[in-house]
Amino acid sequence: MPGTVVMKFGGTSVADASRLKRAAQRIVAKREAGHRVVAVLSARGKETDRLIADAHEVSPHPDPREMDMLLSTGERVSCALCAMAINDLGHRAISLTGSQAGIVTDTSHTKARILEVRADRIRSALDEDHIVLVAGFQGVSTSKDVTTLGRGGSDTTAVALAAAIGAEECEIYTDVPGVFSADPRIVPNARKLDVVQFDEMLEMAASGAGVLQLRSVEYARNHGVRIHCRSSFDESEGTKVVSEEETMENPLITAVTHSRGEARVTLVGVPDSPGVAGRVTTALADANVHIDMIIHNEPESADARAEMSFTIPRDDVPTAEAALTPLCDELGMEVKTDQTMGKVSIVGAGMKSHPGVAAKVFTTLGENDINIEMISTSPIRISCVVPGDKVEDAVRALHSAFELQGSDTIRPEQPFGEFV
Ligand code: ADP
Ligand code: ASP
Ligand code: MG
Repeated sequence: MPGTVVMKFGGTSVADASRLKRAAQRIVAKREAGHRVVAVLSARGKETDRLIADAHEVSPHPDPREMDMLLSTGERVSCALCAMAINDLGHRAISLTGSQAGIVTDTSHTKARILEVRADRIRSALDEDHIVLVAGFQGVSTSKDVTTLGRGGSDTTAVALAAAIGAEECEIYTDVPGVFSADPRIVPNARKLDVVQFDEMLEMAASGAGVLQLRSVEYARNHGVRIHCRSSFDESEGTKVVSEEETMENPLITAVTHSRGEARVTLVGVPDSPGVAGRVTTALADANVHIDMIIHNEPESADARAEMSFTIPRDDVPTAEAALTPLCDELGMEVKTDQTMGKVSIVGAGMKSHPGVAAKVFTTLGENDINIEMISTSPIRISCVVPGDKVEDAVRALHSAFELQGSDTIRPEQPFGEFV
């Protein structure tokens, strides 16, 4: 007997009335095939960006609690409208906010983490033969305030609900046919991956492949949720995120990813004494700012001062500056930020057992006249900070150097933003 399925539709997939109705039809078709269905919807089109812009029009540093009140509205609109469309198709639907759906988070406004899902209301609505629509990207904090889960957070809502209700699969419907060997908007002949291992998907999401939010992949791995990322525009099979045991082979390189969402912060005049790096990183951790790469340059002479650079999400620059100011005043350091940097990474589980991958990355970038400014690695990833305006060239050069292209290009004749 078909089981319970969670279906998540991203912003492009519910952007206008006809797409929203198409999503409603797809949800209904799943129900008519005998499944119990929970659907998680994102805000329509660019609504979240618009709401953020509205906030910045009235306040340079919007209060995070109020920001969450504002941002949570986008996904509620989508769910209410979709419930109406489903009711018109002769099925019974009920829309729920994150709070009504029982998603309890910590109190970190704008990037809250899910602590618990109390899914009884969803379960009883399913038992009453309802299709349940849940507003993505939001929850209620342990202090009873509305919270949001960070950009792309509806993916995490979907996975968390799938775990809580024991769904057989969590389907992520999006505007591309699956997870590709590079962002298909930058590399038109990128290859669609039929399966990708959790470890690789985690590295890909962490290094910028925004197709799945990093936390959703972490959550799925920790709770054994099966993710199927696929197109909302056609019926084709997408990409399944699977465990290492389920994959037949370890390709050397699986994907090239990139990000422009980070900034580099450099502390100049860092005293060369024990404990300073710890104090800097603690100040940032206390402010809930996640550091990615770190470079610490030792001074040439014993009495000189050092320099420390690290990369952080660009949106966190004001918070980081505020967190570091007291320390800088105390230790006589200066903060400089570079917001124009970009990052390119290659990810592949087979890299572990093959020397020479780093050499090929650096040589390829060098041959393409792309300067590497910082490097970080994990056993299955190599990341390079490059000038922001060189990111796309770097992605294409590495994708081609490692021969990742697929046999078909994905409809390059279509206008940007549309793969239908
Ligand atoms: P949604 O609104 O459905 O959540 P997102 O914009 O968050 O959609 O994610 C889908 C987008 O992710 C695609 O349109 C694509 O440009 C981008 N993307 C980046 N890297 C990849 C990749 N490796 N594979 C597929 N899509 C990717
Ligand atoms: N609407 C939110 C965003 O744009 C959450 C999501 O779509 O997953 O980031
Ligand atoms: Mg998304």
